[in-house]
Amino acid sequence: MENKSKENNMTLEFDAKSENESLARIAVASFLTEIDPTIEEINDIKTAVSEAVTNSIVHGYNEGPGKITLKCKLVCNQYEKQDTYTVSSFITIEIKDLGVGITNIEKAREPLFTTKPEFERSGMGFMFMEMFMDDLYVESKLHNGTTVCMTKKIKNNRK
Ligand code: ATP
Ligand code: MG
Repeated sequence: MENKSKENNMTLEFDAKSENESLARIAVASFLTEIDPTIEEINDIKTAVSEAVTNSIVHGYNEGPGKITLKCKLVCNQYEKQDTYTVSSFITIEIKDLGVGITNIEKAREPLFTTKPEFERSGMGFMFMEMFMDDLYVESKLHNGTTVCMTKKIKNNRK
């Protein structure tokens, strides 16, 4: 029996503009293809990326100028036994802005909590990220930006 592990990383920096939301989604989706996700897994991840990027644009930078950094790490572990093998992979995605930051992270993560109800925000973003990913970690300092780190396992033993 032989076990193999491989890793792949990418970093993308773009302007905090809504035009770049689809870029972020598509970049992550294409980076993912290597580990053979299902359509459902791809859609879950794209939704979570969208929510985090939108938050950086809308809340972090208040729709003003700024940069967003997107980092992705793929880890693929392969367990081999005779002529069959199982692959267990996961993706970690980090979305970082240098915007206004979050005063109370715990409160911000509560479903339906929003600081922008007047702009028809419904406070569902963090809830979607939590629902669609396996792990969500938020780090933020007031006036010092926000980093959202999410991980999802890709259940893949079809090979
Ligand atoms: P929706 O996502 O449904 O449009 P929302 O963006 O207000 O509404 P969440 O995405 O759950 O809801 O975010 C909750 C709150 O957390 C936001 O209203 C905002 O106050 C704060 N927040 C989230 N991301 C950031 C960020 N990157 N920078 C500053 N504040 C943020
Ligand atoms: Mg949101």
